[in-house]
Amino acid sequence: MSEEEPVSPDEVTKVEKSDDEWRKELTPEQYRVARKGGTEPAFTGKYWDTTTPGTYRCVCCGEPLFESGTKFDAGCGWPSFWKPIDEKVAEREDRSLGMVRDEVTCRRCGAHLGHVFDDGPNPTGLRYCINSASLDLEEKKR
Ligand SMILES: [Zn+2]
Repeated sequence: MSEEEPVSPDEVTKVEKSDDEWRKELTPEQYRVARKGGTEPAFTGKYWDTTTPGTYRCVCCGEPLFESGTKFDAGCGWPSFWKPIDEKVAEREDRSLGMVRDEVTCRRCGAHLGHVFDDGPNPTGLRYCINSASLDLEEKKR
């Protein structure tokens, strides 16, 4: 067994950790959502109606994923964005729960973030419906 190597915040390589490591670093809710593909109940998350300016980072690896300027009130009970920060998120088809949806994950560490739907506002027409538990808002300094 080797010592765990520190991960520099600027490193662009993938972050890979074992289940046990994630479990230790995250709260039970963050772990359930971000590492196990769970969904927090609507209107219960930390950020669903937040309008504070800042950058939403991945709760697992700290990668910046969404800017507050692309967040909008979709009335669905989860933080919703019409665009992620370029190249930061990955999308793949998710056929769980008898539905076909596009799952959104953090490209760097594979964290489950939420799903993307095509009923969002202009200019993209997309709605990234994201769990608060997968996000960590870094407030913009005044
Ligand atoms: Zn991540």
